[in-house]
Amino acid sequence: MRIKKVGVVGAGTMGSGIAALVASAGVPVVLLDIPGKDDRNAPAKRGLERAMKARPAAFMAKERAALIEIGNTEDDLEKLATCDWVIEAIIEKLEPKRELYAKLEKILSPHAIVSSNTSGIPMRLLTEGRSEAFKQRFLGTHFFNPPRYLHLLEIIPTPDTLPEVTEAIERFADRILGKGLVRAKDVPGFIANRLGVYGMLQAVHLMEKHGLTIDEVDALTGPLIGRPKSATFRTADLTGLDVLKHVATELAEATGEPFTLPEWVDRLVAEGRLGEKTGAGFYRKEGKEIHTLDWRTGSYAPRQKPRIPGLEAVQALPLEKRLAAVLELPEPYGPFMKELFLTTSHYTLEKAPEIAYDLAAVDRALEWGFGWRMGPFKQMDAVGLDTLKAAFNAAGLRVPNLLEQADGTFYKKANGRRTMLAFEGGYVPVPEIPGAIHLSELKAEGRVLKESKDAALIDLGDGVALLEFRTKMNAIGEGIFRMLDAALKLVQRDGYAGLVIGNEHERAFSAGANLALILMLAQEGEWDELELAVRAFQKGTMSLRQAPFPVVVAPFGLTLGGGAEFTLHADRVQAHAELYMGLVETGVGLIPAGGGTKEMLFRFTEALKPYKEADPFEAVRRAFELIALAQTSTSALEARAMGFLRDGDGITMNRDRLIADAKRRVLELAEDYVPPAPRTITALGREALGNLRYAAWSLREARQITDHEVRIANELAYVLSGGDGPPREVSEVDILDLEREAFLKLLGTKKTQERIAHTLKTGKPLRN
Ligand code: NAD
Repeated sequence: MRIKKVGVVGAGTMGSGIAALVASAGVPVVLLDIPGKDDRNAPAKRGLERAMKARPAAFMAKERAALIEIGNTEDDLEKLATCDWVIEAIIEKLEPKRELYAKLEKILSPHAIVSSNTSGIPMRLLTEGRSEAFKQRFLGTHFFNPPRYLHLLEIIPTPDTLPEVTEAIERFADRILGKGLVRAKDVPGFIANRLGVYGMLQAVHLMEKHGLTIDEVDALTGPLIGRPKSATFRTADLTGLDVLKHVATELAEATGEPFTLPEWVDRLVAEGRLGEKTGAGFYRKEGKEIHTLDWRTGSYAPRQKPRIPGLEAVQALPLEKRLAAVLELPEPYGPFMKELFLTTSHYTLEKAPEIAYDLAAVDRALEWGFGWRMGPFKQMDAVGLDTLKAAFNAAGLRVPNLLEQADGTFYKKANGRRTMLAFEGGYVPVPEIPGAIHLSELKAEGRVLKESKDAALIDLGDGVALLEFRTKMNAIGEGIFRMLDAALKLVQRDGYAGLVIGNEHERAFSAGANLALILMLAQEGEWDELELAVRAFQKGTMSLRQAPFPVVVAPFGLTLGGGAEFTLHADRVQAHAELYMGLVETGVGLIPAGGGTKEMLFRFTEALKPYKEADPFEAVRRAFELIALAQTSTSALEARAMGFLRDGDGITMNRDRLIADAKRRVLELAEDYVPPAPRTITALGREALGNLRYAAWSLREARQITDHEVRIANELAYVLSGGDGPPREVSEVDILDLEREAFLKLLGTKKTQERIAHTLKTGKPLRN
């Protein structure tokens, strides 16, 4: 069954976010809310507006909002009759949900699927009174806030849900919406909230018990143990203390387990100190400063960077080792972490079989829903199950069955396959995302063809090789070019069909060229070496284009500077939907000289060719603006609108499928591959240069840019105009030569060197 149109009822926080995600994926949406007083559609309209203004953006491209048709549940329910999937995201109360389903049952088409986004009401209660046919086409789909950014979608089929219904939703959610799917049992809080909220509340109680501060707990429970920067309390502030309170109360009622908040948190909620949305919660913003709540007194004081003895040494360890090392920190920190780890691990071990179908689902739920780098079972493996058992015994806690059943670790390699402990005992293969390729697994299977500390070549199977970057933030330098060279040779020599360039970094396909090296060479006056380095970069990117086999680049996340230039020179790009791509070199006082400037000029000029009346300066102007302003996309859709992606380039919604999709592209292209012919265009010369220089001068006059920025803009203008002579035919090599000259000239200036040094030190641009 194909889902061609989606209905969302309830245009609140979740409904509007879900509608924006579905529309971003290109699928039409009907979004309904209750009728308003004057304007009948006002509530739905407000929801849509909220999504359009949301930060971070709920839409991947603003235009996609046009795919959403709004209405109200009294006048427009009929509009849902054409929807294949209707998602209910209204108020978390049983009666209104039931009433809505009763109405939906009468009007929906017989093949339509209905799902609820409820966080806690059991599915069997929701569908009481509905027909058998309705129940068969009903399930829970629990999105996380914000739906665009949190990867997890919990799928809760009931005993009545037809398997093909669950499968249809899963296929759509995985491929089209890009979600990470975890099937959960119909229990309070499902998997992620049940365990995640339990852990948060434990952290709060243990903070009191061990006498820690909020700053200390957030320093201990964030990236140090592989969790998001927002750690415990900032996460709660972002979610909203009222939401946390609501979820905790429901969980306490439904389970009878200790999901209570301390009295001082209740007071915050009662006083409307709900976190980010009300300006104060566990933290409060005072102008530019952040103040932290002193939970003992209820007052706020400037945030303190905690001084925890031994913390630095622990931070230097890899995550697997850190997890054990934090338990040994001095008092009160180590004992706090130990008790937190023990109570949450114990709870996880006891509850897992009740709430999930397997332990991989538990790990994925917390990794995808709460942004943990390692789920709880992986963490227990890292700390060591014997250590854990001994600690349970010492603390007088019963050793849970799952731990008794485990043979050394929860995950195990068996005959090259990843297996896990089954809840029924014995080890079974970890259920994989069908069709996804994970480099970490290929590496474990010995599929590495060649490697260095900076890069590797991996066999993806079916005659496709992959070049992986391995440097810090995947910065591009000599080591990567050497591996690229090796890749080009190997693909031909060993008869591979083609090459993918991709990696599995958390945030960055590549943050750009290795600036530290460039700055060092410049400061030492090694101009010959720098010239060679830039040439090597240009040769590298051009070799992607000229290779006698297809090269597909698979960017995601940060794809900046040199990383963008690699991407621009692919035969095809297969991008992840979350793509933050830009030629940002001007930020550090340079221009793109790995072929980026050339590529945008050629691309935009060629795009105008079919239009005889078009003014060719438009192409130059467009490239100038894009590069001079260091414009960066906030999604792959935007990257396409900006010209970084072409029509033939693909977008993958689900990051877990990116490399597999890129590989498929290589195989498609390999069928009849011929490398693109060298290109020429007419460079416009001095007239274009004059126009661009005038534009830069005007911005300077208006005090919008600095003198050095005028200088950078002028160098860029010179390259894009092909020099200051009359119009002339130029090849790609001609423009590359100009790029290189301009780059080196700018690099020779003191102000550019200051910019680079500043960015390396602070991570931020300097506008000198
Ligand atoms: P919300 O209060 O922001 O939005 C609810 C919306 O539903 C409002 O716009 C309201 O006007 C509308 N509504 C209420 N009754 C209605 C009715 N009978 N018909 C049509 N519209 C109606 O709530 P939310 O946070 O978006 O939560 C919606 C659902 O998603 C709830 O079931 C909640 O438990 C669940 N949920 C919330 C979160 C979260 O983080 N907020 C996360 C996962 C799931």
